[in-house]
Amino acid sequence: MVVTWRRPKPIGERPVLMRMEAVDKAFRGGIVALREMDLSVHEGDFISLLGPSGCGKSTALRLIAGLMRPTRGAIRWQGAAEIGVVFQEPTLMPWATVEENVFLPFRLKGRRFVEVAEDIALALRLVGLERFARAYPRELSGGMRMRVSIARAMVTRPKLILMDEPFAALDEITRHKLNADLLEWKEKIDATVIFVTHSVFESVFLSDRIVVMAARPGRVLRELAVDAPYPRGEAFRTSADYAALCRGASAALHEAMGEPA
Ligand code: ADP
Ligand code: MG
Repeated sequence: MVVTWRRPKPIGERPVLMRMEAVDKAFRGGIVALREMDLSVHEGDFISLLGPSGCGKSTALRLIAGLMRPTRGAIRWQGAAEIGVVFQEPTLMPWATVEENVFLPFRLKGRRFVEVAEDIALALRLVGLERFARAYPRELSGGMRMRVSIARAMVTRPKLILMDEPFAALDEITRHKLNADLLEWKEKIDATVIFVTHSVFESVFLSDRIVVMAARPGRVLRELAVDAPYPRGEAFRTSADYAALCRGASAALHEAMGEPA
């Protein structure tokens, strides 16, 4: 499969996929995990939610995934969108092979392996693990397990992929490689991504928009546009533009943490 990088249309010309409108989420005990969160997601976006721990990033993701309901406000979808989710832990079934793990979303829909074997092979080829289809998770490195987890999220070709600090536990070299690969995979399957991280560097490298959040109560502080073209690789990561964008995002994050930048 060859990547054909499209010139992204200006955001105003891309259809809206989902909108969060003044969403509150309160938990028992009075914790306000999110207050009045507004977020517009357009098809093809790569959005990062960046903020200190406890600012409601995971809560926002779980609300979008439909795993919880807002206390107030609404999440509006433009049509039905299939969603894939990736967590910080790869959450693979240890007793099942790589291909059986990637089969899971289809199995949950009542499909049989033979019907979707080709999709599974394609997803494994996408993430570079075609030779490990019959391996078990314990035989793989942390980075490879995360690749399996991403293949499982992408195997049904979802429109929207939600990722909650997926690379936080990986070493830096593996993380850089997965960052670059993720941009390529997103392009190949034509997905929209919402990516949670507390890393300024990761959010700038990946995103076209960064939503900076603050805690107590969890809220959106500001949105930053990362106006750098895709594809992005090591040349971008070492550029002066990247350094300047990271300084800007870092200042916003310090503000979110209530500290001087
Ligand atoms: P983040 O992912 O940005 O670290 P979370 O969304 O996990 O933040 O949490 C936001 C706030 O909501 C935190 O104060 C957290 O303790 C609280 N919280 C999250 N989930 C629950 C829950 N199920 N019950 C009670 N409080 C929760
Ligand atoms: Mg979290």
